[in-house]
Amino acid sequence: MESATASETAAERGSQDGAAAEAESFEVHRPVDGSTIRSVPIDPPERVAEVVARVRAAQPAWEALGIAGRRRWLERLRDWMLDNEARLADVMQEETGKVRAEAEIEAPFLCGSINYYTEHAAEFLTEETPTPHILPLRVKRLRIVYRPYPVVGVISPWNFPLILAFDDAIPALVAGCAVVIKPSEFTPLSTMELVRAWKEEIGGPDVLDVVNGVGETGGALVDEVDFVQFTGSDRTGKIVMKRAADTLTPVSLELGGKDPLIVLRDADIDRAVNATATGALANTGQICMSIERIYVEEPIYDEFVAKLTDRVRKLRQGIGRGSYDEDLGAMTTPAQAEIVSDHVEDARSKGARILTGGKRKDGSGDWYEATVIADVDHSMKVMTDETFGPVVPVMKVGDAEEAVRMANDSRYGLSASVFAGSNRRGEEVARRIDVGAVNVNDVLTTYFAMGVPMGGWKESGIGFRHASYGIKKFVQPKSIVSPRIKQGKVDPLWFPYTSRRRKFLNRANRFVNARGLRNRLGL
Ligand code: NAD
Repeated sequence: MESATASETAAERGSQDGAAAEAESFEVHRPVDGSTIRSVPIDPPERVAEVVARVRAAQPAWEALGIAGRRRWLERLRDWMLDNEARLADVMQEETGKVRAEAEIEAPFLCGSINYYTEHAAEFLTEETPTPHILPLRVKRLRIVYRPYPVVGVISPWNFPLILAFDDAIPALVAGCAVVIKPSEFTPLSTMELVRAWKEEIGGPDVLDVVNGVGETGGALVDEVDFVQFTGSDRTGKIVMKRAADTLTPVSLELGGKDPLIVLRDADIDRAVNATATGALANTGQICMSIERIYVEEPIYDEFVAKLTDRVRKLRQGIGRGSYDEDLGAMTTPAQAEIVSDHVEDARSKGARILTGGKRKDGSGDWYEATVIADVDHSMKVMTDETFGPVVPVMKVGDAEEAVRMANDSRYGLSASVFAGSNRRGEEVARRIDVGAVNVNDVLTTYFAMGVPMGGWKESGIGFRHASYGIKKFVQPKSIVSPRIKQGKVDPLWFPYTSRRRKFLNRANRFVNARGLRNRLGL
């Protein structure tokens, strides 16, 4: 048996398709101590094609159920999650190394997602009847109807195994698509459990399935489906987009980030400190929207850094199943722990001050200490590359102008936070940051606010989830134009062309498109 959980990144393994093809299964480990949970069979391309063909065959009946019919099934999935929250959290905690409080947020979040999309789908996907933009077209009835992409492939990462697969799978199912998920090879078990429940306990229609593997399986899924929803690193996202270009399959990419947090001199420092600790270190810093760079105005820099260091030192790291008295879990993958070490050592070697943490924890498993680094700058990886770990680098800036310039000095543009003395001032600064979402005097909340879109600018992605954007991407508009009045045998624009009709049409064109009576009449 060949293990796919080596220390290289998933994208590297994905490019070694030959090696993946030889593997028959991969092992899933417990990050807390490195022990093996179980091995999972790899689905080769032929099996991926079979699964997609099967759900494709079931999709027309699913679409024909209508939103109300599909809603009933999704509500059963919601109720199953509510009844089995603890079981799902057990599976997830084991494969991710999250603390209990964090393992327990995923199922409730998805219940909210089911309610939101089932309650709003009719409004978001309703047929539209636009008014013709010119008078002569008033004889026509214009209609836009929405049809689902038959099969959506969801490729998901390991940091929120259920949310980042089902937060897209749910609206796709509500829209009438069939869905096949390829979860991360590090954390496939939660998704497998929920799909098993859909099939075996809920008895749901055969429009939801899961395939397992690394690059070869993911690539095969891209080849087979009609729409690709990818969440993961920008590096793999680019590989996926290139592959999708071969079949001109549309993609939505939710990629990495390097989110800045700005603290202006008149901000509430204590609130900013507490928010920074949570925004940077929740899920052990392994959130796409984790705060990864902090810019603090010079007059409050020293106080902010001292209070932040004190706050972070008090965080409790460890995992005791069932206990809520822990703040930081393990790093989910050994490769990510290595990236964190590399960024911290790079900063240390370039003169930054490590105020707390700064090293891996001894013993088994993948543990990295909560770390605060001061006096950083943009020559250091910790301020330019995605760290995706429990590290909080803080940089001093002269004023808000410099803070905005530094925040925008990144190839990423996922989200940001601004702390200011007034919300008005915070919003002014928020509008100038080149990202898809900004929290004012808050952190991470834009993800939980379903009514606003979540997605990345620049190399953080293409497309959005949540709000109407999160479901409309899974449907194609179809225009239907039909007569409103009884029609003659020939329309003016049809054959045969005659000079009399042409002259009339030219005059009519001028009358319709010019503005001002004299101009319309050509005077
Ligand atoms: P990753 O890119 O390594 O893997 C993501 C998924 O792609 C996995 O399922 C993996 O098996 C699959 N994959 C790997 N090679 C592939 C290939 N050649 N073809 C098709 N699929 C392939 O990412 P990861 O390490 O699992 O997740 C961490 C990254 O995800 C971070 O960069 C993080 O910022 C990002 N992320 C983004 C969001 C967002 O919503 N923007 C959310 C969470 C995580």
